[in-house]
Amino acid sequence: MQAAYFRGNGVIELCDVPRPVPGPGELLIQVAANGVCGSDRKILEGGFARIPGHEVAGTVVEATEGCQTPTGARVAVYIPRHCGACVYCQAGQGNLCPHKPGLLGWSTDGGYAEYMVVPDRNALPLEDGISMEQGVLLLDTIGTSSHGLRLARCETAQSALVIGAGPVGMGAVAYLKAMGIPDVYVSELSPYRLAIAEKYGALPIAADQEDVASRIRADHPYGVDLVVEAVGALLTIWQSLYLVRPGGVVSLVGEYWGKVELERPKSEWMINDITLIRSFYFTIPEFHENQRLILNGKLDVSPLASHSYPLAELRAAYDAFLSGDTLKVMVTP
Ligand SMILES: [Zn+2]
Ligand SMILES: [Zn+2]
Repeated sequence: MQAAYFRGNGVIELCDVPRPVPGPGELLIQVAANGVCGSDRKILEGGFARIPGHEVAGTVVEATEGCQTPTGARVAVYIPRHCGACVYCQAGQGNLCPHKPGLLGWSTDGGYAEYMVVPDRNALPLEDGISMEQGVLLLDTIGTSSHGLRLARCETAQSALVIGAGPVGMGAVAYLKAMGIPDVYVSELSPYRLAIAEKYGALPIAADQEDVASRIRADHPYGVDLVVEAVGALLTIWQSLYLVRPGGVVSLVGEYWGKVELERPKSEWMINDITLIRSFYFTIPEFHENQRLILNGKLDVSPLASHSYPLAELRAAYDAFLSGDTLKVMVTP
């Protein structure tokens, strides 16, 4: 089968490799689509020994003994490896399972290939009416953002600021508007992304032309009820703490592995009753709830997938994504 490898310094090589063989309890999935993700940037530069790709939807072509998912099922791939037995797994919180660390597509071969092996319990069935592309969007884009927003009890907010409108940030915008939040501000550099945010009914702030804090405080002198940090940078984490109102919630959904130092004036975070949420991925029941939100017309994800490339043009897919004038870029084998 054809598979892509990241060789470092941005070099992507397409190779012909043997089709993987699923073991007991595993499925072989024919990949239909794999979403390009900002979290791939590090391995695109640094190189990666395995087949990358972790936002996958496809069709089950082989189910081994012990699998419940039948051949022919259309599924999205839930990447946290999980034991299936502990208290977290019993509640569908595979993202919190402490017994099977590692993520599919990171600690195993991923979806930039024609086929991928997936443990049966990581295959989330797509309902009729949910496309493969929507299946991919239900992972990092909608899954990650909506999980952070559910933990934040976002439905009680009257005002929100989303900092950074890449796929996860724009997923947050889509979900907040689906929940009926009246004032959703979006701070972002790309005019392309700001235009899409506006189509969702959000209030765009061009962060390179307008002072975000002045704009927010002009309308909401105490700050907003909810800030969603979807950049993954210390400066925007600080900005979140500065622009949330006393008693408000900050939900950190951006990928940030660095040290978080909260060395801001005490009045900004120490004495303001701020709830700070750091979420990871999403739960399996949430995935199914999000499918229903799409099917009943409440959640519109169609603006979130902006481009599509064949696997052979994976480098061009990354160039498009890194330009900033895209949202989720789909890659099809
Ligand atoms: Zn991702
Ligand atoms: Zn578990």
